[in-house]
Amino acid sequence: MSTQPLVLSPARPRKVTLRRRRLAITRRLRELRMIAKGLFDRDHPVLAHLIPIRRCNLSCTYCNEFDDFSKPVDLSVMLDRVDHLARLGTTIITISGGEPILHPELDDIIRRIRKHGMLAGMITNGYLLTAERIHRLNDAGLDHMQISIDNVMPDEASKKSLKVLDRKLQLLAEHADFHVNINSVVGSGIRSPEDALTVSNRAIEYGFTSTVGIIHDGDGQVRPLGPRERAVYKAIKGHEKSSYSQFNTFQDAIADGLPNNWRCRAGARYLYICEDGLVHYCSQQRGYPGKPLAQYTVDDIKREYRTEKSCSPHCTVSCVHQTSLIDSWRDSQTIKPAIDRPAVPGTPLVHIETTTRR
Ligand code: SF4
Ligand code: SF4
Repeated sequence: MSTQPLVLSPARPRKVTLRRRRLAITRRLRELRMIAKGLFDRDHPVLAHLIPIRRCNLSCTYCNEFDDFSKPVDLSVMLDRVDHLARLGTTIITISGGEPILHPELDDIIRRIRKHGMLAGMITNGYLLTAERIHRLNDAGLDHMQISIDNVMPDEASKKSLKVLDRKLQLLAEHADFHVNINSVVGSGIRSPEDALTVSNRAIEYGFTSTVGIIHDGDGQVRPLGPRERAVYKAIKGHEKSSYSQFNTFQDAIADGLPNNWRCRAGARYLYICEDGLVHYCSQQRGYPGKPLAQYTVDDIKREYRTEKSCSPHCTVSCVHQTSLIDSWRDSQTIKPAIDRPAVPGTPLVHIETTTRR
Protein backbone atom coordinates (compact mmCIF):
# COMPACT_ATOMS: atom_id res chain seq x y z
CA MET A 1 0.00 0.00 0.00
CA SER A 2 1.05 3.58 -0.54
CA THR A 3 2.69 4.96 2.58
CA GLN A 4 0.81 8.26 2.30
CA PRO A 5 -2.97 8.16 1.99
CA LEU A 6 -4.47 10.26 -0.78
CA VAL A 7 -7.99 11.59 -0.36
CA LEU A 8 -9.59 12.47 -3.69
CA SER A 9 -12.75 14.46 -4.34
CA PRO A 10 -15.56 12.50 -6.01
CA ALA A 11 -14.84 12.20 -9.74
CA ARG A 12 -17.30 13.94 -12.09
CA PRO A 13 -17.38 11.47 -14.99
CA ARG A 14 -17.32 12.60 -18.60
CA LYS A 15 -20.75 13.21 -20.10
CA VAL A 16 -21.58 11.22 -23.20
CA THR A 17 -23.05 14.02 -25.29
CA LEU A 18 -24.51 13.51 -28.75
CA ARG A 19 -21.38 15.08 -30.27
CA ARG A 20 -19.04 12.77 -28.34
CA ARG A 21 -21.13 9.74 -29.24
CA ARG A 22 -21.03 10.71 -32.91
CA LEU A 23 -17.26 11.25 -32.77
CA ALA A 24 -16.73 7.92 -31.06
CA ILE A 25 -18.75 6.06 -33.70
CA THR A 26 -16.88 7.80 -36.53
CA ARG A 27 -13.57 7.01 -34.86
CA ARG A 28 -14.47 3.35 -34.50
CA LEU A 29 -15.50 3.16 -38.16
CA ARG A 30 -12.18 4.69 -39.19
CA GLU A 31 -10.36 2.15 -37.01
CA LEU A 32 -12.26 -0.71 -38.63
CA ARG A 33 -11.36 0.64 -42.07
CA MET A 34 -7.74 0.80 -40.91
CA ILE A 35 -7.83 -2.87 -39.85
CA ALA A 36 -9.40 -3.89 -43.16
CA LYS A 37 -6.74 -1.96 -45.08
CA GLY A 38 -4.02 -3.59 -42.96
CA LEU A 39 -5.36 -7.06 -43.70
CA PHE A 40 -5.71 -6.38 -47.41
CA ASP A 41 -2.35 -4.67 -47.98
CA ARG A 42 0.90 -5.64 -46.23
CA ASP A 43 3.07 -2.86 -47.65
CA HIS A 44 2.18 0.13 -45.49
CA PRO A 45 2.82 1.14 -41.86
CA VAL A 46 -0.13 0.74 -39.52
CA LEU A 47 1.32 2.86 -36.71
CA ALA A 48 4.08 5.47 -36.66
CA HIS A 49 5.42 7.23 -33.59
CA LEU A 50 6.56 10.72 -34.41
CA ILE A 51 8.77 12.82 -32.11
CA PRO A 52 8.33 16.60 -32.58
CA ILE A 53 10.47 17.53 -29.57
CA ARG A 54 12.88 15.62 -27.33
CA ARG A 55 12.64 18.08 -24.44
CA CYS A 56 10.48 17.22 -21.46
CA ASN A 57 9.27 19.31 -18.53
CA LEU A 58 9.80 16.29 -16.23
CA SER A 59 12.80 14.04 -15.66
CA CYS A 60 11.62 10.57 -14.63
CA THR A 61 14.71 8.69 -13.50
CA TYR A 62 13.91 5.53 -15.53
CA CYS A 63 13.43 7.40 -18.82
CA ASN A 64 15.99 7.60 -21.63
CA GLU A 65 13.71 9.35 -24.11
CA PHE A 66 14.05 12.98 -23.11
CA ASP A 67 16.44 15.86 -22.56
CA ASP A 68 16.04 19.30 -21.02
CA PHE A 69 17.40 21.47 -23.82
CA SER A 70 16.28 20.41 -27.31
CA LYS A 71 14.42 22.86 -29.48
CA PRO A 72 11.18 21.85 -31.18
CA VAL A 73 11.53 20.50 -34.72
CA ASP A 74 10.48 23.15 -37.26
CA LEU A 75 6.85 22.96 -38.26
CA SER A 76 7.62 22.74 -41.98
CA VAL A 77 9.93 19.76 -41.31
CA MET A 78 7.26 18.06 -39.19
CA LEU A 79 4.62 18.60 -41.89
CA ASP A 80 6.95 17.09 -44.51
CA ARG A 81 7.36 14.05 -42.28
CA VAL A 82 3.59 13.70 -41.84
CA ASP A 83 3.14 14.04 -45.61
CA HIS A 84 5.72 11.34 -46.27
CA LEU A 85 4.09 9.00 -43.76
CA ALA A 86 0.79 9.62 -45.57
CA ARG A 87 2.43 8.76 -48.91
CA LEU A 88 3.63 5.48 -47.38
CA GLY A 89 -0.01 4.75 -46.49
CA THR A 90 0.34 5.04 -42.69
CA THR A 91 -2.97 4.73 -40.89
CA ILE A 92 -2.18 6.02 -37.36
CA ILE A 93 0.36 8.61 -36.23
CA THR A 94 0.96 8.93 -32.51
CA ILE A 95 2.91 11.97 -31.40
CA SER A 96 5.14 11.56 -28.36
CA GLY A 97 8.43 12.94 -27.08
CA GLY A 98 9.82 14.24 -24.77
CA GLU A 99 6.66 16.13 -23.99
CA PRO A 100 4.77 16.90 -27.21
CA ILE A 101 2.73 19.74 -25.68
CA LEU A 102 5.99 21.70 -25.47
CA HIS A 103 5.94 21.92 -29.27
CA PRO A 104 4.41 25.34 -30.02
CA GLU A 105 2.74 24.16 -33.24
CA LEU A 106 1.49 20.79 -32.11
CA ASP A 107 -2.07 21.57 -33.24
CA ASP A 108 -0.90 22.20 -36.80
CA ILE A 109 0.82 18.82 -36.85
CA ILE A 110 -2.36 17.14 -35.64
CA ARG A 111 -4.41 19.00 -38.24
CA ARG A 112 -2.10 17.82 -41.01
CA ILE A 113 -2.40 14.20 -39.82
CA ARG A 114 -6.19 14.45 -39.89
CA LYS A 115 -6.17 16.23 -43.26
CA HIS A 116 -4.61 13.07 -44.71
CA GLY A 117 -7.36 10.95 -43.14
CA MET A 118 -5.02 9.29 -40.65
CA LEU A 119 -5.86 8.71 -36.98
CA ALA A 120 -4.08 11.19 -34.70
CA GLY A 121 -2.95 10.14 -31.22
CA MET A 122 -0.62 11.59 -28.64
CA ILE A 123 1.16 10.50 -25.49
CA THR A 124 1.62 13.18 -22.86
CA ASN A 125 2.53 13.43 -19.21
CA GLY A 126 -0.54 15.65 -18.83
CA TYR A 127 1.14 18.34 -16.74
CA LEU A 128 0.55 21.15 -19.22
CA LEU A 129 -3.12 20.45 -19.91
CA THR A 130 -5.62 23.22 -19.26
CA ALA A 131 -9.25 23.52 -20.33
CA GLU A 132 -8.20 25.89 -23.11
CA ARG A 133 -5.42 23.51 -24.31
CA ILE A 134 -7.86 20.60 -24.37
CA HIS A 135 -10.31 22.62 -26.49
CA ARG A 136 -7.52 23.43 -28.95
CA LEU A 137 -6.73 19.72 -29.21
CA ASN A 138 -10.44 19.06 -29.85
CA ASP A 139 -10.43 21.68 -32.59
CA ALA A 140 -7.28 20.26 -34.18
CA GLY A 141 -9.01 16.87 -34.45
CA LEU A 142 -7.06 14.76 -31.98
CA ASP A 143 -8.50 11.24 -31.85
CA HIS A 144 -6.73 9.68 -28.89
CA MET A 145 -4.65 10.68 -25.89
CA GLN A 146 -2.71 8.47 -23.51
CA ILE A 147 -1.36 9.53 -20.13
CA SER A 148 0.83 7.25 -18.05
CA ILE A 149 0.45 7.61 -14.30
CA ASP A 150 3.21 5.85 -12.40
CA ASN A 151 2.19 6.19 -8.76
CA VAL A 152 -0.36 7.64 -6.34
CA MET A 153 2.08 10.02 -4.62
CA PRO A 154 5.06 11.53 -6.45
CA ASP A 155 8.43 10.03 -5.55
CA GLU A 156 12.06 10.47 -6.55
CA ALA A 157 11.62 8.27 -9.63
CA SER A 158 8.48 9.82 -11.10
CA LYS A 159 6.31 12.87 -10.61
CA LYS A 160 3.58 11.39 -12.82
CA SER A 161 1.37 10.75 -9.83
CA LEU A 162 -2.38 10.61 -9.35
CA LYS A 163 -2.04 13.29 -6.67
CA VAL A 164 -0.77 15.79 -9.23
CA LEU A 165 -2.65 14.60 -12.29
CA ASP A 166 -6.11 13.95 -10.87
CA ARG A 167 -7.21 17.54 -11.56
CA LYS A 168 -6.01 17.13 -15.15
CA LEU A 169 -8.12 14.00 -15.47
CA GLN A 170 -11.13 15.99 -14.25
CA LEU A 171 -10.42 18.64 -16.91
CA LEU A 172 -10.22 15.95 -19.57
CA ALA A 173 -13.51 14.41 -18.39
CA GLU A 174 -15.18 17.81 -18.70
CA HIS A 175 -13.67 19.09 -21.94
CA ALA A 176 -12.09 16.37 -24.09
CA ASP A 177 -13.97 15.15 -27.16
CA PHE A 178 -11.20 12.66 -27.95
CA HIS A 179 -10.68 9.24 -26.45
CA VAL A 180 -8.54 9.14 -23.29
CA ASN A 181 -6.63 6.13 -22.01
CA ILE A 182 -4.82 6.07 -18.68
CA ASN A 183 -1.91 3.65 -18.45
CA SER A 184 -0.54 2.48 -15.13
CA VAL A 185 2.52 0.32 -14.47
CA VAL A 186 3.56 -2.66 -12.37
CA GLY A 187 6.86 -4.49 -12.16
CA SER A 188 10.40 -3.97 -11.02
CA GLY A 189 11.16 -0.71 -9.25
CA ILE A 190 7.51 0.12 -8.54
CA ARG A 191 7.31 0.46 -4.80
CA SER A 192 3.60 -0.07 -4.36
CA PRO A 193 1.95 -2.28 -7.00
CA GLU A 194 -1.48 -1.42 -5.59
CA ASP A 195 -1.01 2.16 -6.82
CA ALA A 196 -1.62 0.91 -10.36
CA LEU A 197 -5.05 -0.38 -9.36
CA THR A 198 -5.91 2.91 -7.64
CA VAL A 199 -4.97 4.76 -10.82
CA SER A 200 -6.91 2.36 -13.01
CA ASN A 201 -10.04 2.55 -10.83
CA ARG A 202 -9.88 6.33 -10.92
CA ALA A 203 -9.60 6.30 -14.74
CA ILE A 204 -12.72 4.13 -14.95
CA GLU A 205 -14.58 6.48 -12.59
CA TYR A 206 -13.93 9.32 -15.02
CA GLY A 207 -15.18 7.26 -17.95
CA PHE A 208 -11.76 6.70 -19.54
CA THR A 209 -10.23 3.40 -20.61
CA SER A 210 -7.41 1.93 -18.56
CA THR A 211 -4.45 -0.26 -19.44
CA VAL A 212 -1.48 -1.61 -17.55
CA GLY A 213 2.16 -1.96 -18.56
CA ILE A 214 4.94 -4.06 -17.08
CA ILE A 215 8.31 -2.41 -16.73
CA HIS A 216 11.81 -3.82 -16.96
CA ASP A 217 14.17 -4.29 -14.12
CA GLY A 218 17.09 -1.84 -13.83
CA ASP A 219 19.31 -4.28 -15.71
CA GLY A 220 16.85 -4.61 -18.55
CA GLN A 221 15.52 -7.99 -17.49
CA VAL A 222 11.83 -8.71 -17.28
CA ARG A 223 11.20 -10.79 -14.19
CA PRO A 224 8.01 -12.69 -13.42
CA LEU A 225 5.56 -10.65 -11.37
CA GLY A 226 5.25 -11.41 -7.68
CA PRO A 227 1.89 -12.33 -6.10
CA ARG A 228 0.91 -8.72 -5.26
CA GLU A 229 1.81 -7.43 -8.73
CA ARG A 230 0.03 -10.34 -10.35
CA ALA A 231 -3.19 -9.65 -8.45
CA VAL A 232 -3.09 -5.98 -9.50
CA TYR A 233 -2.23 -6.88 -13.08
CA LYS A 234 -5.18 -9.30 -13.32
CA ALA A 235 -7.60 -6.78 -11.81
CA ILE A 236 -6.60 -4.09 -14.30
CA LYS A 237 -6.72 -6.50 -17.21
CA GLY A 238 -10.35 -6.98 -16.22
CA HIS A 239 -10.86 -3.26 -16.95
CA GLU A 240 -9.55 -3.81 -20.47
CA LYS A 241 -12.48 -6.01 -21.44
CA SER A 242 -13.85 -3.46 -23.88
CA SER A 243 -10.53 -3.00 -25.62
CA TYR A 244 -8.72 -4.84 -28.38
CA SER A 245 -5.92 -5.75 -25.99
CA GLN A 246 -8.13 -8.46 -24.52
CA PHE A 247 -6.93 -10.51 -27.49
CA ASN A 248 -3.33 -9.84 -26.56
CA THR A 249 -1.60 -12.55 -24.52
CA PHE A 250 1.76 -10.85 -25.06
CA GLN A 251 1.79 -9.17 -21.67
CA ASP A 252 0.53 -12.30 -19.92
CA ALA A 253 3.74 -14.09 -20.96
CA ILE A 254 5.81 -11.08 -19.78
CA ALA A 255 3.98 -11.21 -16.45
CA ASP A 256 4.97 -14.87 -16.16
CA GLY A 257 8.57 -14.11 -17.17
CA LEU A 258 8.19 -16.24 -20.30
CA PRO A 259 9.45 -15.48 -23.83
CA ASN A 260 6.95 -14.60 -26.53
CA ASN A 261 7.02 -16.33 -29.88
CA TRP A 262 6.02 -13.72 -32.43
CA ARG A 263 7.16 -11.90 -35.56
CA CYS A 264 8.05 -8.30 -34.90
CA ARG A 265 7.14 -6.20 -37.94
CA ALA A 266 8.94 -3.07 -36.74
CA GLY A 267 10.38 -1.05 -39.62
CA ALA A 268 7.40 -2.09 -41.70
CA ARG A 269 4.05 -2.05 -39.90
CA TYR A 270 5.42 0.10 -37.07
CA LEU A 271 7.89 2.99 -37.43
CA TYR A 272 9.56 5.13 -34.77
CA ILE A 273 10.59 8.49 -36.22
CA CYS A 274 13.01 10.40 -34.00
CA GLU A 275 13.42 14.18 -33.88
CA ASP A 276 16.19 13.91 -36.50
CA GLY A 277 13.76 12.33 -38.93
CA LEU A 278 15.36 8.88 -38.87
CA VAL A 279 13.30 5.69 -38.94
CA HIS A 280 14.05 3.27 -36.10
CA TYR A 281 12.50 -0.07 -35.20
CA CYS A 282 11.23 1.25 -31.87
CA SER A 283 12.31 3.40 -28.92
CA GLN A 284 14.36 0.48 -27.59
CA GLN A 285 16.13 -0.31 -30.84
CA ARG A 286 17.15 3.08 -32.12
CA GLY A 287 19.74 2.91 -34.89
CA TYR A 288 18.01 0.15 -36.85
CA PRO A 289 17.50 0.72 -39.73
CA GLY A 290 18.37 4.37 -38.95
CA LYS A 291 17.41 5.60 -42.41
CA PRO A 292 15.97 9.09 -43.07
CA LEU A 293 12.20 9.00 -43.35
CA ALA A 294 12.34 11.15 -46.50
CA GLN A 295 14.19 8.28 -48.23
CA TYR A 296 12.09 5.48 -46.74
CA THR A 297 10.23 3.56 -49.43
CA VAL A 298 7.94 0.61 -49.89
CA ASP A 299 11.06 -1.47 -50.57
CA ASP A 300 12.29 -0.71 -47.03
CA ILE A 301 8.90 -1.70 -45.66
CA LYS A 302 8.95 -4.96 -47.62
CA ARG A 303 12.49 -5.77 -46.42
CA GLU A 304 11.80 -5.04 -42.75
CA TYR A 305 8.52 -6.93 -42.86
CA ARG A 306 10.54 -10.05 -43.69
CA THR A 307 13.44 -9.29 -41.31
CA GLU A 308 13.62 -11.31 -38.11
CA LYS A 309 14.20 -9.28 -34.89
CA SER A 310 16.43 -11.19 -32.51
CA CYS A 311 15.19 -9.13 -29.53
CA SER A 312 11.59 -10.28 -30.01
CA PRO A 313 11.35 -13.11 -27.41
CA HIS A 314 11.82 -10.75 -24.45
CA CYS A 315 10.50 -7.57 -26.00
CA THR A 316 8.07 -5.56 -23.86
CA VAL A 317 6.99 -3.03 -26.47
CA SER A 318 3.34 -3.89 -26.46
CA CYS A 319 2.30 -1.40 -29.15
CA VAL A 320 4.59 -3.05 -31.72
CA HIS A 321 3.28 -6.44 -30.77
CA GLN A 322 -0.32 -5.31 -31.17
CA THR A 323 0.50 -3.75 -34.52
CA SER A 324 2.22 -6.94 -35.64
CA LEU A 325 -0.79 -9.07 -34.72
CA ILE A 326 -2.46 -8.12 -37.97
CA ASP A 327 0.09 -10.27 -39.86
CA SER A 328 0.68 -12.89 -37.19
CA TRP A 329 -0.98 -15.58 -39.26
CA ARG A 330 1.01 -15.05 -42.44
CA ASP A 331 4.48 -14.56 -43.91
CA SER A 332 7.50 -15.98 -42.11
CA GLN A 333 10.59 -13.80 -41.65
CA THR A 334 13.42 -15.11 -43.79
CA ILE A 335 15.89 -12.20 -43.60
CA LYS A 336 18.41 -12.54 -40.78
CA PRO A 337 18.36 -9.87 -38.06
CA ALA A 338 20.65 -6.84 -38.20
CA ILE A 339 20.33 -6.19 -34.46
CA ASP A 340 23.38 -7.16 -32.44
CA ARG A 341 22.25 -6.05 -29.00
CA PRO A 342 19.34 -6.62 -26.68
CA ALA A 343 16.73 -3.94 -26.17
CA VAL A 344 18.04 -0.86 -24.31
CA PRO A 345 18.23 -1.80 -20.61
CA GLY A 346 15.96 -0.06 -18.18
CA THR A 347 13.56 1.34 -20.75
CA PRO A 348 10.04 1.07 -19.44
CA LEU A 349 7.26 -0.48 -21.36
CA VAL A 350 5.31 2.05 -23.31
CA HIS A 351 1.89 0.52 -23.56
CA ILE A 352 0.28 2.35 -26.42
CA GLU A 353 -3.12 1.63 -27.78
CA THR A 354 -2.44 0.65 -31.33
CA THR A 355 -6.09 0.92 -32.17
CA THR A 356 -6.05 4.07 -30.13
CA ARG A 357 -9.47 2.95 -28.83
CA ARG A 358 -3.18 4.97 -25.50
S1 SF4 B 1 8.74 9.26 -19.02
FE1 SF4 B 1 7.66 10.87 -20.16
S2 SF4 B 1 7.32 12.46 -18.63
FE2 SF4 B 1 8.94 11.16 -17.79
S3 SF4 B 1 10.87 12.13 -18.49
FE3 SF4 B 1 10.32 10.57 -20.01
S4 SF4 B 1 9.21 11.71 -21.59
FE4 SF4 B 1 9.21 12.99 -19.73
S1 SF4 C 1 12.59 -4.32 -29.04
FE1 SF4 C 1 10.64 -5.29 -29.59
S2 SF4 C 1 9.60 -3.85 -30.92
FE2 SF4 C 1 11.73 -3.24 -30.85
S3 SF4 C 1 12.64 -4.26 -32.62
FE3 SF4 C 1 12.96 -5.60 -30.85
S4 SF4 C 1 11.21 -7.00 -30.93
FE4 SF4 C 1 10.69 -5.26 -32.24
